[in-house]
Amino acid sequence: MARLDLGVAQALTLDGQAHTARALWNLLHEYFTFRQGRFATLKDCDQAIRQARQDIDWMGQLPAQAAQAVLKTYRQAWANFFNPDHPAERPTFKSRGRSRMAVDVPQARDLQIKRINRRWGVVNLPKIGRVRFRWTKDLPGVTKGGPAGRITGARLVKEAHGWNIVFRTETLIAPTPAVHPGPSVGIDRGINVALALSDGTMREHGPWLTDGEREHLRRLEKKSARQRRTRIPDRPISRRLARTYAQIAKARATAKRRALDWQHQTTTELAGTFSTIVVEDLKITSMVRSAKGTVEQPGVNVGQKSGLNRAITAEAWGRTVTLLEYKSADRGGRVVKVPAPGTSQTCHQCGHRDPGNRARTVFTCKNPGCGWAGHADSNAAININNAAGTVVSGRGDLGATRSAKRQPPRAA
Ligand SMILES: [Zn+2]
Repeated sequence: MARLDLGVAQALTLDGQAHTARALWNLLHEYFTFRQGRFATLKDCDQAIRQARQDIDWMGQLPAQAAQAVLKTYRQAWANFFNPDHPAERPTFKSRGRSRMAVDVPQARDLQIKRINRRWGVVNLPKIGRVRFRWTKDLPGVTKGGPAGRITGARLVKEAHGWNIVFRTETLIAPTPAVHPGPSVGIDRGINVALALSDGTMREHGPWLTDGEREHLRRLEKKSARQRRTRIPDRPISRRLARTYAQIAKARATAKRRALDWQHQTTTELAGTFSTIVVEDLKITSMVRSAKGTVEQPGVNVGQKSGLNRAITAEAWGRTVTLLEYKSADRGGRVVKVPAPGTSQTCHQCGHRDPGNRARTVFTCKNPGCGWAGHADSNAAININNAAGTVVSGRGDLGATRSAKRQPPRAA
């Protein structure tokens, strides 16, 4: 994802396009689900879009190709919903506040991408013109000697920082290896480190925000609390408060983006190195471990793990597993989820389980005949890896439990 350098008017034009794309989605959804008579075909929908672009003035501000992309995405949403392997949510109406602002540029030849210097590239956007974007990585077909493949289109996405461009690429190489040659590994979502591996290594990261940025965020949160106190009930929030909220959202988006970058890099590396990745099977909602620990075993880095960081970490684990699942599958590997109760208290050497085995980051086996000592999170990761030998794992019977909810759109 690369930031677009838009002028104020250009950003407003793009906002307008995104609102129109959302309105078009809703129009299609209404047409598709509540139409009397027969099931709407692709031709019907296409006809409906053409008619809407003629009849409704503001519909014309969305480039024709982007409108076609909305139709394609909408139909794909239904296809995903009916896919028995990866059932997705049923398509719904998109509300103004809660849906993501996005516009598609489905045809690569319209883009005319060029690199102008080390930091910037330029791209053509329909009905907006030539726009600079931050050059963050080599693009296939643009960079000489860059990655193989070609760009097939782009998607413009609005984040708290503003508009970004995401290039779609098609890779022409890399047939998936039938079997991943790497070893197996267990991963513990450590209390002390981000990820602990059963091979004794760690994957760590610093705080997502610098001290200065955290202080800035803390001041903004105090400011918003102050501004909320003077708010009149049942009236819209003040411009000042709205601006503070936007600044808070921006700071949080920065932290989130850095966390996401780290996660992508780390999961790519892990999926490339290991053939089987074993993780603890946890329900994400019930798994926020206390960083504060207990009286006997106080946690470390309490400050760093509390508040924003902890929220990101908790949310991050579910995404880490999802990323590992698809990146492993791409490389011929797999992710195995195992139930692993007591992994942090049990010695992987002798199987002796005792809460006293663990003191902060250090694990010391209390079994006199064993006495193994090492990093507590590594020990947990080894237990998780070992647990995979005793458990048959699969994707779970997701399709069966959800089938009752899945119904075709009303064809009347
Ligand atoms: Zn032991």
